[in-house]
Amino acid sequence: MSKTTLESILSQYEKNSDGGKKPKVSNEDRLKKYFTEKLKKGENNTTKSFRILPGKEGSSPFDEIYLHEREVNHRYEKIYCNKLNDGELCPLCEAEEALKMDGSKKAKDMAKEYTPRKWYVVKGIDRDNEDHGVKFWRYKHKYTGDGVQDKLMPVFKLKGDITDAREGRDVIITTNRNDKGHSVVSSIMADDVSLLTSDTEKANAWFNNEETFRDVYAKKSPEWLDIVAKNMTPIWDSGLSKYVAEEEKEETETASLEDEINLLKNDVSTNTLENDGDGVDTTTLETNDDELPF
Ligand SMILES: [Zn+2]
Repeated sequence: MSKTTLESILSQYEKNSDGGKKPKVSNEDRLKKYFTEKLKKGENNTTKSFRILPGKEGSSPFDEIYLHEREVNHRYEKIYCNKLNDGELCPLCEAEEALKMDGSKKAKDMAKEYTPRKWYVVKGIDRDNEDHGVKFWRYKHKYTGDGVQDKLMPVFKLKGDITDAREGRDVIITTNRNDKGHSVVSSIMADDVSLLTSDTEKANAWFNNEETFRDVYAKKSPEWLDIVAKNMTPIWDSGLSKYVAEEEKEETETASLEDEINLLKNDVSTNTLENDGDGVDTTTLETNDDELPF
């Protein structure tokens, strides 16, 4: 089956699944939303320049979010914790609690695999791809004190509020591989003082961007979480219009086409961003105003 056929099936599915009301951001556009300091396959080092945007009304630009990490469908997934982020029920946290209560060493070890971890999310501009607009940079909190946040804080202490749109600075992030081959940030330095941008259009779009991490890191459905909490594989059942555990499905249809679509639909439905429009909040743009918004 050609890829184009599959793509048209999926786009049709997307359109139908939400009644075609909300415009969805394409996969390509979705990827533009994320900034990462990590190295790509085959890369041994990289240096990137990122401008952190100021927090709203004097608040910290750094949000803290909690994510579970589980292997699902042979992929390591970061899963939004409904309990610690939103105070809702989280089947993965419940599994962690249940295992801890069991008391055996094995159960305790297993519980650790369910523990949500703290991450930071900060919005900013990827200087190498300014046309991508505002991006989200997510990295893990390291209790060992050698994480990205631990390298960013000295820059703030030394240079002050580097997020200031007029008197702030870009940060220069250098990433290398450690002896295990893992991507590791080796240094974060402050660049010279610079204006966020002198382009009025960009300034307005960036400065008025109201997206939060909740808009870009999608929550999973309760049944999807339940299945993953039971250490099973969620697959989309189009008849029931919900996720079911592959391991519990009675008829094991092995049609490769269906499997492929399910896999992709899984990706689409869990990762698709919802957006009010074209990504730029044009309602906040003022006409005939050459002034920068900061
Ligand atoms: Zn949780």
